[in-house]
Amino acid sequence: MVDSTWAPPPVQRPLELGADLVLHSLTKYLSGHSDVTGGALIARKADDFFAHIRTIQQTAGAVLDPFSAWLTLRGLRTLAVRLQRQCENARRLAVFLRDHPCVVRVHYPGLPEHPGHKVARRQMRDFGAMLSFEVDGDAERALAVAARTRVFMRATSLGGTESLIEHRASIETPPTRTPPNLVRLSIGLEHVDDLLADLSQALED
Ligand SMILES: *Cc1c(COP(=O)(O)O)cnc(C)c1O
Repeated sequence: MVDSTWAPPPVQRPLELGADLVLHSLTKYLSGHSDVTGGALIARKADDFFAHIRTIQQTAGAVLDPFSAWLTLRGLRTLAVRLQRQCENARRLAVFLRDHPCVVRVHYPGLPEHPGHKVARRQMRDFGAMLSFEVDGDAERALAVAARTRVFMRATSLGGTESLIEHRASIETPPTRTPPNLVRLSIGLEHVDDLLADLSQALED
């Protein structure tokens, strides 16, 4: 089973790679506009196991309301083009951050030096639009950077049209393994120059 929420189709297609079940938060890229809460479970085969899941869904009431279903269908129509732009923006930002003197590390599978790059190249069509970076400093410095952006909104979800920034360790709370100097980004559809300029001014000492 694959939770492919961060890499929806056409970026990644787990069923074609041999997965039996694929899980998605509709809340993120699939609806894509931060106005839906929902989930999807997709099975390779309509077998007894999936019929059992269906029964649980129906009897336990985990059924999407009609308006959320409508918003999700509407969002799905632009999924491929949204992702294309979001991945493109993420790639530009990852390179910018990697070369920035105030950043010690960038976590993005699209960068050739990322430990998962080879696997990502094999199984993904693009590298997604989520990335994180570690600032040269402590938690306070990372929090200050997250507080200073104007285009990036400070919030914790992902996959919407607007770019988001967060100090991840604060969200997860102890005993998190997330480094205290790490800032997480969800890249949206804004013009990449605006995103670059925003991060640039936020990282200034
Ligand atoms: C957000 C998220 C979920 C949970 O989805 P909700 O719609 O918020 O319940 C599950 N998996 C991943 C990878 C997510 O990012």
